[in-house]
Parts: sequence; C-alpha cells; structure tokens
Amino acid sequence: MKQALVCGAGGFIGSHLVKRLKYEGFSVRGVDLKYPEFSKTVADEFVIGDLRDPIVCRNVTDRPFDEVYQLAADMGGAGYIFTGEHDSEVMHNSAMINLNMVDICRAMGVKKVFYSSSACIYPEYNQIDPDNPKCSEDSAYPAQPDSEYGWEKLFSERMYLSYYRNHGLQVRIARLHNIFGPEGSWNNGKEKAPAAFCRKVAETENGREIQMWGDGKQTRSFLYIDECLDGVRRLMDSDFLGPVNIGSEEMVSINQLAKMIMDIAGKKLRIKHIKGPLGVRGRNSDNRLIYEKIAWRPIHPLREGLEKTYGWIEKQVREARQVSK
Ligand code: NAD
Repeated sequence: MKQALVCGAGGFIGSHLVKRLKYEGFSVRGVDLKYPEFSKTVADEFVIGDLRDPIVCRNVTDRPFDEVYQLAADMGGAGYIFTGEHDSEVMHNSAMINLNMVDICRAMGVKKVFYSSSACIYPEYNQIDPDNPKCSEDSAYPAQPDSEYGWEKLFSERMYLSYYRNHGLQVRIARLHNIFGPEGSWNNGKEKAPAAFCRKVAETENGREIQMWGDGKQTRSFLYIDECLDGVRRLMDSDFLGPVNIGSEEMVSINQLAKMIMDIAGKKLRIKHIKGPLGVRGRNSDNRLIYEKIAWRPIHPLREGLEKTYGWIEKQVREARQVSK
C-alpha cells in the first residue's frame, strides 16, 4: 500500500485530497494546525501540529513516504492577501513551512513531493488587460507578483527546484488557479469570490442588493476541486516536474460570475460596486503546457461546479440561521 503525507490536510484542498488518496487506496497521514472544518477527516492518522516547527516536521515525516503533498500555507482570498495587513505572517509562516518540509523530505528519502504554488506568482504587468491576460508558465519572469503571497510562492518554487537539482528530490509543482467547491471557507474572511458570492446570494432576498468589490469587470477563471485533484494526481504520476498551471480556461468577469450564481439560485439581485481589495485586472489559466505534457484539461463547465458549491453554501446559510434563531 502506498503511503502519503498530506500537509495542510485540515484545509480546503487538503481535506478533499485526503478523500481522493484514500479512495485510490493510499494509506494517508494528515497534518495541520486544525481538523477539517466541515467533515470528519478520513485520514488513517491525523496529526495536529505546527509545520513552522522543524521538530514537528521531523516527527510527521518519520519515514520515506511514497508521496508528500505540501499544501500547508497561510492564505486566504483577496480580503486576506491584498489588504497588506497579513503580509509578514503570510511570508514568514509559509516560507518556514516550506523550508522545513523540503529539507526533511530530502533527509528522509521521500520519493515524490508535490508543492502547491499559485497563479499569484505571475507578473502584474501581464495581467492589466482583463480580456487578454498572459499566464503561460514561461511568462513568470521577470518576476513581479502583485502580492507578498505570490513572492513567497515563487521563492518556494525555486527552493523545491533547487532540491531537485542538488539532491535529486523528485518534486512536482503546480500553479493552481482559483480552486473552489464545497467545504471551503465561505464566511470567515478567507473565502474567495465564488464562495463569497454564493453566500451573499444565498443570504439575500430576491430583488435586494449585494455588494461587490470593484467594478466587476476584472476577469478570472475558476476550477472545481475534483478537476483540480485529477490534475494534481496525474502530475504526481508523471515524470513532468513543472511548474505547470492547473486551472480552467473558462474566463469570466466577476459580474458574470455573480450573475451565474444568481441564475443558479433563481434570484435577481442588484449589484452595488464598492471599493475593496482586488488583485490583478485579468487572469486566466493557460493550459497548453499541461495538456502537452500530461494530457490534462478540465472537462466540466464552470456552471456545473458552481451549482454544487451554491447548494452546499446555501445549506450552510440555512443551518447558521437556524442556530441563531
Ligand atoms: P486552506 O487555507 O484551506 O488550507 C491550508 C491549510 O494549511 C489550512 O488548513 C491551515 O490550517 C494549514 N496551515 C497553515 N499554517 C500551518 C502551519 N504552520 N502548520 C500546519 N498547517 C498549517 O487553503 P487551500 O485553498 O486548501 O490551499 C491549499 C494550498 O494550495 C495552499 O498552499 C495554497 O496557497 C495553494 N493554492 C490554493 C488556491 C486556491 O484557489 N484554493 C490557489 C492557488 C494555490
């Protein structure tokens, strides 16, 4: 039986990944500061620990795991990453985790390590035109990410690659683009646009108003969690190191995203545009490289994933209302 360690197993992607690995027959140890919030973990073993501490990293990586998935990071949506208030924590905490984990994986002879980088590493100057953003893997340099979160990711990508070059550590690096789905943050300040609009639409009576940061003309693409995990698992099973985009090429404006969610909910709401943290003007995944190397591309339209996510968030909203009554 293959053995996997999932760092960040209490988080959104990590908790879904544990389910996937169990389904595929892995023996899984998870580690995180916290248990998954919305369902019981299915990991064979779950360690509560702080990966900024090298001793914790050593204790959880006590054998040459077949696969380590390093997803732990101090992160959130625009309200967390782009206000500037969390910059030092984001950089310090995530860099510490990666510095510790990459070295312990080398020392323990881990066979393969997955590192979750981000679309946020791409230079701001290529993402000014909302209709024509450039996010091909080779456009990462000269570097100019628009957040400290992106700079840390870029630094860590380079660190994992240097361990490959100098120590032969088998790394696989994906730049994830806006992953969404059920059981993700939806109301704690760390939620991203799809979850935030699902919540706002679910909470608001038909005909009333919801707020949106910015003019809504900024563009993004969003990838449903199950498709993301298909890409991650296929990358891990391949000989291709990356860094490579794992995202959707179905680019929409944030106005279109909100309208799609209203449509799913069967509601017509007015959108009030207000000032808020935004990030780049346009961003879309470019899947040419990943398709060429490992023949992966998403197969389901955005709307399908949004329907499932709205259903889950609408249920959370209803249950929260019942509790507060
Ligand atoms: P998440 O915040 O839900 O999960 C991250 C987990 O890391 C959390 O459960 C958190 O408790 C844990 N963690 C943080 N600091 C820790 C520490 N010191 N010790 C142990 N655990 C710690 O985020 P997610 O959306 O699941 O993202 C997973 C990874 O994918 C992250 O590295 C993130 O940067 C990357 N990523 C995610 C997206 C996305 O759209 N969700 C996009 C690009 C990249």
